[in-house]
Amino acid sequence: MPTATDPATLTDVQRQIVDLAREFAQTRIAPHAAEWDRTAHYPRDVIDELGRLGFLGMLAPEDYDGQGLDALTYLLALEEIAAADASVAVTMAIQNAIPTTMLTRHGTPAQKKRWLRPMARGELVAGFALSEPDAGSDAASLRSQAVRDGDGWVLNGAKAWATNGGTADLMMVMVRSDTPERRRGAKGISTFIVPTSTAGYRAGKPEDKMGLRASNTTAVTLDDLRLPGDALLGEEGMGFVYALEGLDAGRLGIAIQAVGIARRALELSISYCAERRQFGMALRDFQAVQFKLADMATRVAAARALAHQVAARKDRGESTTQHAAMAKLFASETAMWVTTQAVQLFGGYGYMRDYPVEKLFRDAKVTEIYEGTSEIQRIVIARGLAAGS
Ligand SMILES: Cc1cc2nc3c(=O)[nH]c(=O)nc-3n(C[C@H](O)[C@H](O)[C@H](O)COP(=O)(O)OP(=O)(O)OC[C@H]3O[C@@H](n4cnc5c(N)ncnc54)[C@H](O)[C@@H]3O)c2cc1C
Repeated sequence: MPTATDPATLTDVQRQIVDLAREFAQTRIAPHAAEWDRTAHYPRDVIDELGRLGFLGMLAPEDYDGQGLDALTYLLALEEIAAADASVAVTMAIQNAIPTTMLTRHGTPAQKKRWLRPMARGELVAGFALSEPDAGSDAASLRSQAVRDGDGWVLNGAKAWATNGGTADLMMVMVRSDTPERRRGAKGISTFIVPTSTAGYRAGKPEDKMGLRASNTTAVTLDDLRLPGDALLGEEGMGFVYALEGLDAGRLGIAIQAVGIARRALELSISYCAERRQFGMALRDFQAVQFKLADMATRVAAARALAHQVAARKDRGESTTQHAAMAKLFASETAMWVTTQAVQLFGGYGYMRDYPVEKLFRDAKVTEIYEGTSEIQRIVIARGLAAGS
């Protein structure tokens, strides 16, 4: 498949994992993706199967029943899932990146045993709740509050647009733990491990979204939600730092989600332009169409290469903050551009729900918004430049 990663560059293990991911994506996800999109159906059974195959614990350590794989192998598998359906891919991306990174780096052995192990086995689905109705890009201005209560805590507040807010078993929730008398800005935020079965955790109705319609996105209300002391992750006041670390890993996943969407749009466009005839010729015989396809293929390959380069940095243990922002920025804008070209190449059919490219166009848009908008990625990159990195 000339549009995907060249298999010759992969190790035997990577090839096996990609083959497994592609087989699963093409048999269990792709045939149903249009229907799930139309009915906004969240396929928990398929997510559970993905978990049983190890795809929800790819980056979790082997000591806690994870696969302990490198970031590149994770990206290779995630691209296959995203090319079949971006909604399924977002659950895989979030679980592997944000809650897994937070618990692996900052969880106590007891927290890891209790939460990370079942997550890595795919028995628990986890999400994260940082955004609030009035705190999106400026997430450090969040207002949800945790107050000490004996050995434990009581949480109150409102979270916005949490992926899997109504379907996760566990949420990593960022709230303030400083006091109104002594506000500490970003240093007043802590992370709590919140089982969604806890009394006082209330998910709103699933949001009616433009794209990514088979993923569950909800507001979450924290209403006198009581937690034991061991629900605090790591150090009090470090929650925003943990969220940013998680987002570094998360943005790399979103970059490859965008590559998967764009690659699918490219593959469909190549096939369509071979079949569709106008003026007595296949569309692909027009040089203007060939140039469009060439530009699409070039941008997809460049977006993938950038993401893989960031994965290599991550695997070497280097900082990826600035580079993950670059990968997400470039890949998400590529996905939006490539899917726009795909709709154009399909003409009137491209605008119809019966054809798959309009879904890809709608799914692509969110990659420019969540885990930091394109503007926020540019701010992160520019900050890195100013700091000389
Ligand atoms: C489908 C979906 C799933 C999501 N899942 C999650 C989740 O699981 N957990 C979670 O915590 N959040 C989640 N989010 C929230 C998401 O991360 C936020 O929507 C995003 O960070 C942007 O915040 P906002 O929507 O409040 O936009 P705003 O921050 O209000 O931004 C509006 C516009 O202003 C621009 N802007 C803001 N500040 C600046 C600036 N300084 N300079 C230039 N431009 C600026 C933005 O780029 C944007 O174009 C999700 C969102 C969606 C749509």
